[in-house]
Amino acid sequence: MWIVPEAAIADLMTEEASFAAVESVFAAMSRGDAVNFPVIREAIGHADALYGFKSGFDRAGLNLGLKSGGYWPGNMDKGLTNHQSSVFLFDADTGQCRAVVGGNLLTALRTAAASAVSIHHLSRADAKVLGMIGAGHQSAFQMRAAVKHRDFEKVIGWNLHPEMLSRLADTAAELGLPFEAVDLDQLGAEADVIISITSSFDPILMDAQVRPGTHIACMGTDTIGKQEVEATLLRRAQVFTDEIAQSVTLGEAQHAIKDGLIRADTISELGAVINGTHPGRTSADDITLFDGTGVGLQDLAVASAALELAIQRGTAIEVDF
Ligand code: NAD
Repeated sequence: MWIVPEAAIADLMTEEASFAAVESVFAAMSRGDAVNFPVIREAIGHADALYGFKSGFDRAGLNLGLKSGGYWPGNMDKGLTNHQSSVFLFDADTGQCRAVVGGNLLTALRTAAASAVSIHHLSRADAKVLGMIGAGHQSAFQMRAAVKHRDFEKVIGWNLHPEMLSRLADTAAELGLPFEAVDLDQLGAEADVIISITSSFDPILMDAQVRPGTHIACMGTDTIGKQEVEATLLRRAQVFTDEIAQSVTLGEAQHAIKDGLIRADTISELGAVINGTHPGRTSADDITLFDGTGVGLQDLAVASAALELAIQRGTAIEVDF
């Protein structure tokens, strides 16, 4: 079996490779070729940790496996990242463990790739201003992946904790784009594409702040109770997601569903747009909203891509098992 250590991932995976892997597995999910298994997430009663598995099988890519890990709040004091994950890939023909792949950077790359896939397929082709809500760890990855898909001329951003906005300014500078910190009214009025990636449990962006034609990727809401946008916005928008079952239970759509503002059967899979079985955006004035909940198959897709690259380049470590 192979080992691809966490430290090797940065040299192996690009935004482009992550995009291709995630786009392909969203398409496979929508065709019924790939399925996510029920998620396990438990407070283990030690170190305040939340631990779990996300797993699935992609019959098209023959990707079988799981991402295992979670959140250890005390890690920062030990010089470690609070979020820890490892991906295990299994041979779909024999069940033997094929590889263990470091999953921390891959999680950020696959999450950013999901919103980039939504921007690629759903935002207006003439989008010029990227609006960022959130300035945490994931936000820089989100911005780097997004700018590859439209000719953005400017990034604007808002964060609850203004002292963190330097991350957005630094990332925009790295990408050669001007950055301006704005309030949420200005963000909604100017942005053609908005990415929200926060840990919020209350709506941040209000329905009235969003103008027609905007594409919004809601990436922070991945747990029951979290929320980033006002629920009525989902009634006004065309809503797309990675997986409808997660969207309505723990994604951004959970609130609009609970309040009776939308029905599950009005939410579409982004994979259907990729496959051409859903038209996606139908007019320049549509508001499109991608509810990116995060699924195990994304993790398997990028881990498998990283493994293949590592084997090709001779950097994967082979061990007897
Ligand atoms: P982080 O801790 O580095 O940053 C948190 C961000 O949320 C910061 O911008 C912070 O200012 C903001 N924030 C915190 N509390 C807030 C509140 N009450 N209201 C508004 N904003 C608030 O986290 P991160 O690693 O950047 O992750 C951001 C979010 O993305 C998390 O909620 C995480 O669970 C989620 N996430 C989703 C996926 C997915 O696949 N959808 C994948 C990874 C992470």
